[in-house]
Amino acid sequence: MFAQVIVDIAHSSVDRLFTYRADDNIAVGQRVLVPFGAGNKAIEGFVLGVSDSYEGTVALKSIIRPMEPYAVLTDEQIRLAQWIKQSYNCVLVDALRLMIPAQLRGGRVKEKTIRTVKVNAEMDREQVLSAMLKKDGTPKSPRQHEVYILLAESGMEMSTGDICAFIPGAAAAIRALLQKGYILEIGRETYRNPYASRDIPKTMPMLLSAQQQAALNAVSDAMEEAEGEFLLHGVTGSGKTEVYMQAIAKALDMGGTAIVLVPEISLTPQAMDRFRGRFGNSVAVLHSRLSPGERYDEWRRIRLGKAKVVLGARSAVFAPLENIKLIVVDEEHEQSYSSEITPRYNAIEVARQRCRLNGGTLLLGSATPSVQSYLRATKGSYTLLEMLDRINSLPMPRVEIADMRDEFAAGNTGIFSAPLYDALKTCFDKGEQAILFMNRRGYSTFVSCRGCGYVFKCDNCDVSMTYHKLENTMKCHYCGSVKPIPKVCPECGKPYIKFFGIGTQQVEEQLNQSFPDVTCLRMDADTTRTKDSHYSILSRFAKGEAQVLIGTQMVAKGLDMPGVSVVGVIAADASLHIPDYRSCERSFQLLTQVAGRAGRAAGNGRVIVQTYNPDHPAIVLASRHDYKGFFDYEIAMRKAALFPPYSLFIRVLFVHGDKGPLAEAAGSFADGLHKAIVDALKQQGADDRELLFMTCGEAPIKRKQGQYRMHIVLKLARTKHTAKVIDAVYSYANDHRSEYYCSLELNPNDML
Ligand code: ADP
Ligand code: ZN
Repeated sequence: MFAQVIVDIAHSSVDRLFTYRADDNIAVGQRVLVPFGAGNKAIEGFVLGVSDSYEGTVALKSIIRPMEPYAVLTDEQIRLAQWIKQSYNCVLVDALRLMIPAQLRGGRVKEKTIRTVKVNAEMDREQVLSAMLKKDGTPKSPRQHEVYILLAESGMEMSTGDICAFIPGAAAAIRALLQKGYILEIGRETYRNPYASRDIPKTMPMLLSAQQQAALNAVSDAMEEAEGEFLLHGVTGSGKTEVYMQAIAKALDMGGTAIVLVPEISLTPQAMDRFRGRFGNSVAVLHSRLSPGERYDEWRRIRLGKAKVVLGARSAVFAPLENIKLIVVDEEHEQSYSSEITPRYNAIEVARQRCRLNGGTLLLGSATPSVQSYLRATKGSYTLLEMLDRINSLPMPRVEIADMRDEFAAGNTGIFSAPLYDALKTCFDKGEQAILFMNRRGYSTFVSCRGCGYVFKCDNCDVSMTYHKLENTMKCHYCGSVKPIPKVCPECGKPYIKFFGIGTQQVEEQLNQSFPDVTCLRMDADTTRTKDSHYSILSRFAKGEAQVLIGTQMVAKGLDMPGVSVVGVIAADASLHIPDYRSCERSFQLLTQVAGRAGRAAGNGRVIVQTYNPDHPAIVLASRHDYKGFFDYEIAMRKAALFPPYSLFIRVLFVHGDKGPLAEAAGSFADGLHKAIVDALKQQGADDRELLFMTCGEAPIKRKQGQYRMHIVLKLARTKHTAKVIDAVYSYANDHRSEYYCSLELNPNDML
């Protein structure tokens, strides 16, 4: 037999098949070890084809051995990888690597755990750690120290094999730590089940409301026909999850499998329990807090057909399921579905392609669909399903807007406006709970006037300018223009120009001052470092151990907490002024999602939104729960300003340690690219003004990890010529790969 193998080296020079002699039982999709290159170095590779004859004349080498006794890739995954290579302009191995757990490569995890260990919880962690240090503060045994920290931070059992995967040669250190009693041996086990410790009661399908039933029927019919792409617009609390679960049950009944994608941030234990309660052990969960061993075991349960439902974040779209009948993408508007590393795929587009390859049905769901998806739905490429009422006819929460300019004028310079203070007071008096939401991202970076709310924007680009502390200037992240910061506001003439930042901690302090008897929990990047901290904070809050939960984005999404009657949005403007043409859309989405956390059981929800821009359409329309109104407004704005989907941004990033040559390389790339684009337009008889603008300069983050960064940003009008221009851009980039050229992205999530 002969096998066509692609080697596991991500380089365009080896992005092709090599033929090897193979044993008879070799299968497509298997990983193998092959001798490669002049030195016959042993390299891992993927078998992508087999044949029993060979036409060539070159003497062939033989496969050394298969890595696993089964094919790790399905045929469909191989086809999917080919599509990814095409669509995202990467080498095939980059795409294939997405399909398998990283730990599998290099043979770093074993199938059976022989021995597992964990930290000894009886001993005080700080004391143990300091006992491990010498007088000068360095560890007595660096390796033991490292192992202990790894175990302490992971907060769970790890097999010795997994530990050695992280810390080579850790075996002796583990023995020493066991002897000292700092860690304990747990014993033998063959499957790492990340959830073994929690018993989840089984739930039955609920009797659906009329709107849920209508949505389910449409999806079920499409599944029968092996087709369909749906956008489910369901307001917060309309019961989307129940629709997903009953559609999944249908997929299983039909003998198929299903994937549910959720944003990493909303992959809360609460959400996982809902699915595990319904589908038990046939659910596999993939998320970033699993240990490498757990991840591998979950992957293997899926590959070997033991798990039929996969719940996970972005990368779960590649789960090795066969016969996929349904892919659900919850919160489809979330930007976390776009990957930030090569290949920069979009999980929704991948899901769409996978459904096509499998004859599966695609179901996107959101309370605030992205403008892009909703536009597709209005044009008929998605079928729109609507659930515009909350379950049990609960009313949507009442949203009040607190004008912080008035508060400032009235002498209130604190964090809480009078309406928010009053709402909190009433809430606590009644013994109810509140959530305070503080959007951190972008908060301290925009420049505004506290007197009138004026925000400085770029004259060219109409996005907010960003404050640069070192130079004391403000800068546009799109076109690079710079302005000094004036002393007085150009709008109202008052000297209240500010770029102040507050964080969740300040909110907590203010709360303690205003309401000394009230207990609160804080959920942000600082308080959620360990694996179970999410779960423990949320479950303590659910049990009523605290009256207030203060948090960042993490508290905005997906929480179903019946005790919460008040939600306070501390600074709604923060997301409004992120320098991005999507800031309006993101603000509307975020406000709607946060507001949706209030009054989910009793319908007594009250939301107070604090803002310096009370008339901003994103804020006004979110306060009225008016998605359609917002969509109409936003799409008109995009059309007028020629923002996507009416145009396309392309960004090419260059990174290098030497500044001079970098600028030269980026500059000549820009010249060549410009010519390629103009040529591509001309060839189609198009006006070269379809290239709306193109700049080449320093990236907003000029230097990262010692490397200088420059980028080319260009904007194209969306016309029937655009596809050919994109081809030209890709092919120019392919022909001009260099050590400077780093990445090329269409409509990137950010341009930092
Ligand atoms: P969404 O995801 O649309 O915001 P959820 O799926 O969280 O809404 O549902 C909101 C609440 O309504 C949940 O507590 C859920 O258990 C409940 N629920 C959903 N469907 C039904 C139903 N058909 N009958 C009764 N309660 C339901
Ligand atoms: Zn600009």
